[in-house]
Amino acid sequence: MSQTERRVPPNNVDREAFRDMCRKFAEREIKPRWQQADREARFPREFFVAAAKAGLIGLHAPEAMGGADLGVTEEAISIEEQAKANPNLAIMALIQGVAGSLLAEHGHAVHHDLVRANIAGECLLALAVTEPEAGSDVQNLKTTATRQGDEWVLDGIKSFITLGGDCDTMLVLARTDPTQGRHGMHFFAVDRNTPGVETSQIKTYANRPLPTYRVMFNNARVPESRRLTAGFGAIMAGFNRERVMVAARWLGHMQTALAWALDYAKVRQQFGKPIGANQSIAFMLAQGHVDVEASRLYTYHAAQRWDSGAAIKDIILDVSSAKLFVTQAVYRVTQNALHIGGGWGITEELPVMRMALDALVAPVTVGSYEIQLRVIAKQLGLPCD
Ligand SMILES: Cc1cc2nc3c(=O)[nH]c(=O)nc-3n(C[C@H](O)[C@H](O)[C@H](O)COP(=O)(O)OP(=O)(O)OC[C@H]3O[C@@H](n4cnc5c(N)ncnc54)[C@H](O)[C@@H]3O)c2cc1C
Repeated sequence: MSQTERRVPPNNVDREAFRDMCRKFAEREIKPRWQQADREARFPREFFVAAAKAGLIGLHAPEAMGGADLGVTEEAISIEEQAKANPNLAIMALIQGVAGSLLAEHGHAVHHDLVRANIAGECLLALAVTEPEAGSDVQNLKTTATRQGDEWVLDGIKSFITLGGDCDTMLVLARTDPTQGRHGMHFFAVDRNTPGVETSQIKTYANRPLPTYRVMFNNARVPESRRLTAGFGAIMAGFNRERVMVAARWLGHMQTALAWALDYAKVRQQFGKPIGANQSIAFMLAQGHVDVEASRLYTYHAAQRWDSGAAIKDIILDVSSAKLFVTQAVYRVTQNALHIGGGWGITEELPVMRMALDALVAPVTVGSYEIQLRVIAKQLGLPCD
C-alpha cells in the first residue's frame, strides 16, 4: 500500500463499549500482575496470551488474517485504558501492532501466517531497529544482511529491543545494499532461536515489566522467504502510528498519577489543613487537569487524522505535535505528583515514585523531544537539518 493510499477503517464501532471492555481487561489482567513483573524485570508471557484471547492483539490487522480491522483510534483507546493500570504492559500490544502491520502490509503468505499466529497468542513479536551507534539516527544502522543463495546472513548488534529475549520472532532492519543508503535496507522476520542470534537483557530502572535486550547477530542465516519488501520508509511510517500510541500510553499514565495526587492532596494534613488547600499545591493539580485534557484532545485528534486515510506526509505535524506535548505533560504531572508526595513519595509505601520513574522514558522512545521538534520545525518550512 503506498503512503497516499491508506485504508480508512470502519467508523461504526461503539467506542464507549469498547473502552469499557479494555478497562475491564486492564483491571483483570494487568493490575494483579504488573508489580511482580516490575520487581523481577520479567515479561509475563501469559499476559500476551490473555490479551490475544480478549481480542486486543491485531486490532488494526485485516479480518482475513484474523484481525479486527479497526482504526488507530480504537488502538489508542485500548492502550490508554491499559496504561491507566500500568504504562509498560500496556505497550506490549503496541509493539505487536506495529510489527504485525509490517508483516501484513509488506509480507507474503509466510509472513501472513506469522500475523495469524501472533493474533492467536502463539507468536510474540519484537521490533529490532535501534543499534548502539544508531539511536535517533536510524539511517546510520550497521547491521548487514548478505545474500548467499536462498539465504541471507545477518551480522551486527541491535540494542534496546523490547521483548527481544522473550519474543518468538523479531523483525530486524538490516542493510541489504550498502551502496543504496536508506533505500538499501530490508526487514527480516527472524526466528529468535536461529543459530547465531543471542540476546542479553539491558537492566533499566524504568519500563521493567517489558524488558529490553541487546541482540547479537553473528553469521545468523535467514531464508529469503523471511525477507519483507519493507525497509526504512515503512518503519518511518510505522513510527508515526507508534507515536500516536505512545501519546495514548502517557495520557493513560498521567490520569492515574493525577488521580493519586488529587486524593493525596485532599487527605494529607499539615498545619491543620489538607496540603491541597495551599495555592502552590492546588495550582500544580489544576495544571495537571489542563495537561490531561489537552493531551486527550491532541492524542485523539492525531488518531482521527490517521484514520481519515490522509497521506502520512499530511499528518506528520499533528502526530509529532501530539507526541511532543503529551510526553512533556506526563513529565510535569508525574514530577508534581512526586513532589506532592513529599518524603513519603520516594518510599516504596506509596506508588508515586514508580510512576515518576516510568515516565522518565517518555521523552526518549520513538523519537525524542528534540527529534519531534526537528520534525515540527521542518513541517513549518524551516531549513532545520
Ligand atoms: C525502554 C526503551 C524501549 C525501547 N524499545 C525499542 C524497541 O523495541 N525497538 C527498537 O528498535 N528500539 C527501542 N528503543 C530505542 C529507542 O528508540 C532509542 O532509545 C531512541 O531512538 C533514542 O536513541 P538513543 O537512546 O541511542 O539516544 P541518542 O540518539 O544517542 O540521543 C541522545 C540525546 O541526544 C539528542 N539528539 C540526538 N540527535 C539529535 C539532534 N539531531 N538534535 C538535537 N538533539 C539530538 C536526543 O534527543 C537525546 O536527548 C527503546 C528504548 C528504550 C529506552
